[in-house]
Amino acid sequence: MQYDVVIAGAGPVGLFLSCELAQAGCSVLVLEQAGSPDSPLKRLPFGLRGLNAPTLEALDRRGLLDAVVATQVLRPDKGPPPPGTAHWLAQSRPLGGHFAGIPFALEDVDSGRWPRRLPTPVPDQMAVALQSLEAVLAERAIALGVRIVRGCAVLAVSPDEAGMAIETSGAPVHGRWLVGCDGARSTVRKQSGFVFAGSPPEFTGHTLQVELADPTVLTPGRQFTEHGMCNFNPPGTLALADFDGGAGHRTPLDLRTAQALLRRVSGREATITALHLATTWTDAARQATAYRSGRVLLAGDAAHMHSPLGGQGLNLGIGDAMNLGWKLAAVVRGQAADSLLDSYQAERHPIGARVLDWSRAQVALMRPGPGSRALAAVVADLAATRDGATYLAERLWGVAQPALFDGDHPWVGRSVPDVRLADGRRMGELLRAGKGLLLGLDSGVSLGPIIDHVSRSFPCVMSAARGALGLGAVLVRPDGIVAWACDAGGDASGLESSLERWFGVRR
Ligand SMILES: Cc1cc2nc3c(=O)[nH]c(=O)nc-3n(C[C@H](O)[C@H](O)[C@H](O)COP(=O)(O)OP(=O)(O)OC[C@H]3O[C@@H](n4cnc5c(N)ncnc54)[C@H](O)[C@@H]3O)c2cc1C
Repeated sequence: MQYDVVIAGAGPVGLFLSCELAQAGCSVLVLEQAGSPDSPLKRLPFGLRGLNAPTLEALDRRGLLDAVVATQVLRPDKGPPPPGTAHWLAQSRPLGGHFAGIPFALEDVDSGRWPRRLPTPVPDQMAVALQSLEAVLAERAIALGVRIVRGCAVLAVSPDEAGMAIETSGAPVHGRWLVGCDGARSTVRKQSGFVFAGSPPEFTGHTLQVELADPTVLTPGRQFTEHGMCNFNPPGTLALADFDGGAGHRTPLDLRTAQALLRRVSGREATITALHLATTWTDAARQATAYRSGRVLLAGDAAHMHSPLGGQGLNLGIGDAMNLGWKLAAVVRGQAADSLLDSYQAERHPIGARVLDWSRAQVALMRPGPGSRALAAVVADLAATRDGATYLAERLWGVAQPALFDGDHPWVGRSVPDVRLADGRRMGELLRAGKGLLLGLDSGVSLGPIIDHVSRSFPCVMSAARGALGLGAVLVRPDGIVAWACDAGGDASGLESSLERWFGVRR
């Protein structure tokens, strides 16, 4: 079978990307090696995932946020958090998040320091179960005509004149393009010769679900010890960081070895009476040096991996998919040259590198030893200040990301604010068609005859707006990034070149 795009992996990133491509008119096949989307590792408590502001904005901009909110965990109207939920999420004093286990309080975060954000019903952060998120995305993908084949692994890939020939555990398939969204151990990445560069692991992370003879032996929450870190969420959910250089990764644990590990890392005489679930991960931090090789692209964990500390990987991957989807669709449809894809690497690689360093910085604070503990005490003091909490929130929630590219206006390269038009519609709603948008907010700005040409490609909305932060007109890419802007009373210089650069629109 021949498809415009074949995606390896029906994780959150592959599914989100498939929706982007299908909405833009591409034929899409998703191949997933697992036979079922159901897994205890994707359900609570192990499957808890924190979503940040750019991810929630992306979901809103595609009309998926309400369905995801409906699955949200830890909502006051849903009663107390489920047993084993991360201890810091269940605190009575609302926390904004944590850095290497060092919490910061929500009330210390000064959101007034983000002048580019308008009040919006879209939250800055939210916790969901991975399985529920994937279910929402898969339902949308199927409704858009994406074919998802489960129980079918990508085994080998090779380029040919028409695209990529893909050998699978089922029938061979062909795609004009192939995107590896097949996770940290990506077959697509390995098969296509990408370089995955970075730093080796310092510790093995173990997530365990157990029954304890006496849970009071362990202290709830995160404790740093002589061998690493023990995070206990009663009654029996444990996350352990064992600074063994990653030696314990993927070594199956039985009850006896799990108990020895727990005693060693926690330093307590805890007794495990039953071991229900165990999985491992490490803090290895690696990133593909390129995100594209010919007709093959990488997104999500396939492009970058790091420890789950601080909950960034899924958010990073959804950002990749939002950035890549419309560009790849434009290339597939013949509306843009392949070179548009260069901007995917240019815009997303630095963001990935920044997240890898964020993860490494946390590992440095977690290392056993007096130096790290002393440094952690300093960071804890800073996290308890308004400046410190605001800085951590900016990074964790993704609310103040650097511009993706330069332009003549300070808004260019940044996520567009959630402007509300006079008729009540929000920017997030205007973007749901997955198309670019030219929005004239101030009648003093003359956009002239270019409008006719633009409106053949995507919507042009002329409207007064409330809270437009002084914007006169703004050209927005389908991913919600500002391509061009001018102030109220300004002029439209630079608009035509931006239209050509991002949308191939020429007069
Ligand atoms: C304990 C833990 C907590 C985390 N918490 C957070 C958090 O709070 N916030 C956050 O943003 N991130 C978090 N993460 C990271 C996040 O889960 C990942 O970054 C995210 O799942 C990556 O999505 P993905 O679609 O790129 O890859 P994956 O979720 O790994 O999906 C890849 C898919 O590809 C399939 N696959 C693999 N090989 C093949 C093949 N050869 N052929 C076909 N299919 C294949 C796999 O079966 C899988 O379904 C956490 C991770 C862990 C382990």
